Amino acid sequence: MSTHVQGSISQDLWERALLRIPGGVNSPVRAFRGVGGEPFFVNKASGCTITDVNGREYIDFVGTWGPAILGHAPQVVIDSIRETAIHGTSFGIPNPLEVEMAETICRLVPSVEKVRMTNSGTEAVMSAIRLARGATGRERIVKFEGCYHGHVDSLLVKAGSGALTLGQPDSAGVPSSLASLTSTVPFNDIEALASVFKEYPSDIAAVILEPVPANAGLYLPEPGFLEGVQKLCRSHGSLLIFDEVMTGFRLAPGGAQEIYGITPDLTTLGKVIGGGLPVGAFGGRADIMDNLAPLGPVYQAGTLSGNPLALAAGLAQLREMERIGGWQFLESLGAQLEESIRPMIAGKPFTFQRIGSMFCLYFTPGPVRNLADAKRSDTAAFARYFHEALKEGVYFAPSQFEAGFISTAHTPEALTKAAGILAKIL
Ligand SMILES: *Cc1c(COP(=O)(O)O)cnc(C)c1O
Repeated sequence: MSTHVQGSISQDLWERALLRIPGGVNSPVRAFRGVGGEPFFVNKASGCTITDVNGREYIDFVGTWGPAILGHAPQVVIDSIRETAIHGTSFGIPNPLEVEMAETICRLVPSVEKVRMTNSGTEAVMSAIRLARGATGRERIVKFEGCYHGHVDSLLVKAGSGALTLGQPDSAGVPSSLASLTSTVPFNDIEALASVFKEYPSDIAAVILEPVPANAGLYLPEPGFLEGVQKLCRSHGSLLIFDEVMTGFRLAPGGAQEIYGITPDLTTLGKVIGGGLPVGAFGGRADIMDNLAPLGPVYQAGTLSGNPLALAAGLAQLREMERIGGWQFLESLGAQLEESIRPMIAGKPFTFQRIGSMFCLYFTPGPVRNLADAKRSDTAAFARYFHEALKEGVYFAPSQFEAGFISTAHTPEALTKAAGILAKIL
C-alpha cells in the first residue's frame, strides 16, 4: 500500500521526516493512519490539482482541509500576498487590514457585531470558551459527540456510552478535572441536551457545536434541532457558540447560521477566512465581546494576530468569492457531483451526504445523523477505495471521518473524471 516509488524523493523525505517529526507529520490525520500506507509529499498545487514531489498530479478533494475554496494558488490571493509582503510581514501595531477584515466579517456573518482575529481555529475556539466562561461566570461547557473544535483541552472530550456521564479525556495530557467540566451529548438529540440542562440548570456557560458537523464525515442538523438548542440556551442563560471554522464562508457568505436562520451569541471562524494562511477569528454580540481585555477581565492576545499577510490573503479570497458569486457556483458543482454519484450507489450499502461544496460518502447504508451512525462505516472498505482512487489520480481525505471539499476551480471535467473513477471502484 506504500504510495512511494522505491528510492524516490518522496520515500527519502518520509524516512527523514520520521526521524525528526513525531509520526512524520505536523498534524496527525496527514499520517494516513485511517487508511494505511504512507503519505506523499506535495510541493506544488494549482486550481483543483496537487502535484507530488515526484511530479505526479492528483485531483484534490481535500483543499488543504477546507481553506482552498477558490482552489489552490488563486491568482488574486497570490497577488495580494505578494503586494502586501513587500511592505512588511508583521507590525504588531494596528494595521488597516484589521479594520477591513473586521468590517467584512460583521457585514457577512449575521450574528457578529464585534470580532477578534487569532492565528488558528483552535485558538479561536479556546478564546471563545474562555470568553463564555468569563462573561457568564459559569464553568460547564456542553459539546456534541463527533463535533471537533480543534485541540482545545476542554473540548477534546466525548461521552462514553452514557451521554450524561461526566466527560473522560479523549487525549492523554488533558486533566480529568478540566474534562469533567465538559458534558457531551449525541448530535440531533435534543432530549439528551435537555437532560444535561436539567442536571446543571445554572452551571452551563455555553453550548458549542458545529451547526453542520463536518469532522466525522458530514451530517446535517435535523429540522428544529438548532432552534431547540438555542431555546434551551436562552431559557437557561447559557451562551450558544457556533463553531463555523469549517462552514463559515464555505456554505454561504454568512455560513451555516445564514442558511439555517439562527443567531448564535458567539461564532468561531477559520479556514476559508485565511485564504490558506494561518488565521482564525471569534466574534459575536458586542456586549459579550466587550468582556475581552483591554476593555474587560477576559485575557486574550496574540503576537501575530491580525497579521497583514494572512488578512490580505483572506480578504482577497472573500472579495473574489463575492465578485464571482462563488457560493451559487459551488452549489451547482456540488449538485453535479451528487447527480453522478447517486445512481452509482443506488441499492448499495453507501450513504452520500452533501451540502453545498462539502460532501461525504459513508461506507454504511445509513441513515447517518450522528457519530454513532457514522462509526458503523466499513473503514477497511473505505481504505481500499481511498487507495484505488489515489492510484487513479484522485485524492480524497485519508479518513472515512472527514468531509470532501469542492472548490470553484473544480472543472466539470474534473468532477466527471472523479465520478468515472468512483464508478469503477464502487
Ligand atoms: C479545523 C477546525 C477547527 C480547528 O482549526 P485549526 O485551524 O485546525 O486549529 C476547529 N473547529 C472546526 C469546526 C474545524 O473544522
